[in-house]
Amino acid sequence: MLVIGTFDWASTRLRGMFACPNCESTESFRLRASRPFLTLYFIPVLPIGGLHEYVECSNCKSSFEPVVLTNHMVPATGSGGSTMPQTNEAPFEIDLLTILALMMVEDGQVTEGEIRIARRLFENMTEENLTREDLGKACSQVQVKRLNTSNFLATAAPRRTHDEKLLMVQAMFGVAGADGEISPGRMSSMVRAQQLLGLDESEFQLAVQATSGWLT
Ligand SMILES: [Zn+2]
Repeated sequence: MLVIGTFDWASTRLRGMFACPNCESTESFRLRASRPFLTLYFIPVLPIGGLHEYVECSNCKSSFEPVVLTNHMVPATGSGGSTMPQTNEAPFEIDLLTILALMMVEDGQVTEGEIRIARRLFENMTEENLTREDLGKACSQVQVKRLNTSNFLATAAPRRTHDEKLLMVQAMFGVAGADGEISPGRMSSMVRAQQLLGLDESEFQLAVQATSGWLT
């Protein structure tokens, strides 16, 4: 039985303190890496993709993109400059694709309706083409990177403009409602998104209500 799994290990080269967006306090972190493998009876046998680094909070065990350290690193005392992971200034298209993928995989299953809606949202918002294959890749990447919606938004928010944040809210809502009903898990992700993106209640609601404009 060959299945795709991931193999994780902790890096010894980077530990430190950071401001965990989830705990909202200073916590220690470890830089960890994950790599997709084909597994045979749960034993990793064949690497099938690149290495993905992520930052794990020692307290809440949440995972974040390494870029969380550039905004939230607490300077180490006494030790001379630690190695910072590379920062990535992700273009809006990448963050949009990531949030679409995160919402799609959140309930553990991806439906045809979600695929159709996600592609339409992306193409209407960016005027760029999005193939099924690229969307599928994005869905497997967010799982390999151990991202979840809230942790991703916490790291993506500082690099996005106000208008881009509103588009991300609409992307989330569009996918969440793709199958006609919004699950409780997705509903709480939406509520948390408003706080994490620093949007006020009324503009958040206006954005949500205008989502259908992207679906025509
Ligand atoms: Zn934490």
